[in-house]
Amino acid sequence: MISGPIIVMTGTPGTGKTSTAQLLAASSASLDPPFSLRHINVGDLIKDKSLHDGWDEEWQSWNVNEDKLERIIEERPAGEGLILDWHTCDAYPERWADLVVVLRCDHTTLWERLEKRNYPLNKIQENNESEIMQVVLDEALLSYPAEIVVELKSDTPEDMENNVDRILQWAKVWREERAQ
Ligand code: ADP
Ligand code: MN
Repeated sequence: MISGPIIVMTGTPGTGKTSTAQLLAASSASLDPPFSLRHINVGDLIKDKSLHDGWDEEWQSWNVNEDKLERIIEERPAGEGLILDWHTCDAYPERWADLVVVLRCDHTTLWERLEKRNYPLNKIQENNESEIMQVVLDEALLSYPAEIVVELKSDTPEDMENNVDRILQWAKVWREERAQ
């Protein structure tokens, strides 16, 4: 059995990665025939399983141990696809990704979402600026071939549903192409 696809789900904090990934995982299971896409919150996984070599103060991020992360990715059950949910995508080798989704959000909306999360003001400003400057999109385009990178607007619940439908459509085609 072929392994399922690896979908990198990235974007500035608050753009909707986790919500979208959860909806996508749930919707994939109800396809006929079902498609198994497992949502992995990479930040939590790195913390829980210590897949890092320490915390980087300057970048406020884990120094990911790629080999340890790779073992988990490659040891997944046959047929299972993964949704890797993390705010950065440069920690993964290019060969892992079949699709890179970069969620984008209107900056006023993003500001409100981060306020609701009780982020400190400097963090809200930093993330807001990063969204305006499309830092994550540029990072994705530098790390992966442009043809597998898609930028999707995630301002409203309707956007989220459309995005999930679009990714499921992509996953079906991906599977059909490999079944031949
Ligand atoms: P991330 O994982 O990228 O930090 P979340 O999925 O946790 O983002 O979403 C942050 C907040 O924004 C949550 O309260 C979520 O319900 C809301 N949200 C995310 N995407 C949308 C969307 N497309 N429309 C409306 N609300 C959204
Ligand atoms: Mn999240």
